[in-house]
Amino acid sequence: MLTVNHEAVSVESDLAGGRLACPACKGRLRPWGWARERLIRHGTGTDLALVRGRPRRGRCAACSATHVLLGVDLAARRADTAAVIASAVEAKAAGGAGHRVIAAGLGRPVSTVRGWLRAFAASAGPIAEEFTALAHRDGADAAGLWPAPAPTPAGRALAAVAAYAGVLAARFGVATPAWQIAGLAAAGPWFFSAPWWAGQSQHGLTLTPGTPGGKGGTGAG
Ligand SMILES: [Zn+2]
Repeated sequence: MLTVNHEAVSVESDLAGGRLACPACKGRLRPWGWARERLIRHGTGTDLALVRGRPRRGRCAACSATHVLLGVDLAARRADTAAVIASAVEAKAAGGAGHRVIAAGLGRPVSTVRGWLRAFAASAGPIAEEFTALAHRDGADAAGLWPAPAPTPAGRALAAVAAYAGVLAARFGVATPAWQIAGLAAAGPWFFSAPWWAGQSQHGLTLTPGTPGGKGGTGAG
């Protein structure tokens, strides 16, 4: 599984042009049908909607592995959009709200929201470390883009990803992408997965710089 631009036309043209790299071996991905249909909950309140979608699939010309191409607005194994997950993480990190209050506000099950918050808190260390490094590597003046320091590990992780989003905007001359978009573009579809981050830490993380459009991200699966 890998993270791609969420615009289908752009993904088609990248697949056809051989511009998407296999996460396993960096070979070129070719079009290979579609993954099974999935239902994703979008939005909150009166805008809450279930949306059906079938992600595109690619097959590596070198190693023959197939990979699901997930749009940058979605996270692996999550039934909600990355924007909704991100707003829960923000409410916890910035406002210190509990998972029950956040779940009620978003109209999502308490257990689901608790799972998102636990996963982000559990991977806060490696996320903060990796995105701080990315921001400093890619930013001419990363310090100027740094948001206010946050007191908790999850808050520091969120601030580091937000700083990297600012670096991307400055580098590509675009509007600052939402922090979760920058996170998914750089880390890939498992950005909100604690086991994935634990595995990355063991092997020494090497994220590829993504663009706000969502290209360049990698991820296992
Ligand atoms: Zn491959």
